[in-house]
Amino acid sequence: MKRWEREGVAEIEDIRLPTKEQLQKGVAIIECIQEIPCNPCVDACPFNAISMENINALPIVDFEKCVGCGKCIEVCPGLAIFVVKAKGEKATVMLPYEFIPLPKEGQMVKAINREGKEICEAVVKKVRKGKTPVVTIELPAEYAMEARHIKVKAEE
Ligand code: SF4
Ligand code: SF4
Repeated sequence: MKRWEREGVAEIEDIRLPTKEQLQKGVAIIECIQEIPCNPCVDACPFNAISMENINALPIVDFEKCVGCGKCIEVCPGLAIFVVKAKGEKATVMLPYEFIPLPKEGQMVKAINREGKEICEAVVKKVRKGKTPVVTIELPAEYAMEARHIKVKAEE
C-alpha cells in the first residue's frame, strides 16, 4: 500500500514530473493520484494541455502545450494542481488558497510541504482572486517541488 493510501500524503514518486527545461518555463504539476470521477481541469485549460482517457482516469499534462497560466488551479476541487517554475536559484509556485485572510503581495509567509511542515520563508508575488484564489510565492529553487501550501500570519 502506498503512503498516500495510508496517510493521504503524496510522495514525489507518485507525481508525473516535467523535464528541467519544461520546469524553467513554468508548467502545471498535477498531484491528483487517486482515480475518481472528476475532470474540470480538462475543460478549464485554454490550451488543451490536460487530457484524460476517461472520466475515472488520472489527468495528464502535456508539458509542451502547458504555458503555466494556472487556470486549471482555480477549478480543481481537490486543490491538487500547482504551477511550478524553477530557474536558477529562485522558483515560483502558484497554489490554490482557500483560507482567509488572503495574503498580500509582498508579504512574507511560511512555505509548507505535503506533510504540513514549515520548510522555508517565501514571499507572495501575486494573489489572483478567482473561484479558488491562486497565490504565487517565490522561494529558493531547492524547495520548488516541496512547497505546496503556505501559512499566512494574520495582520495585527
Ligand atoms: S497551467 Fe494553464 S496551460 Fe497549463 S495545464 Fe493548467 S490551464 Fe492548461
Ligand atoms: S480537477 Fe483536480 S481532482 Fe479533478 S481530475 Fe483534475 S486534478 Fe484531479
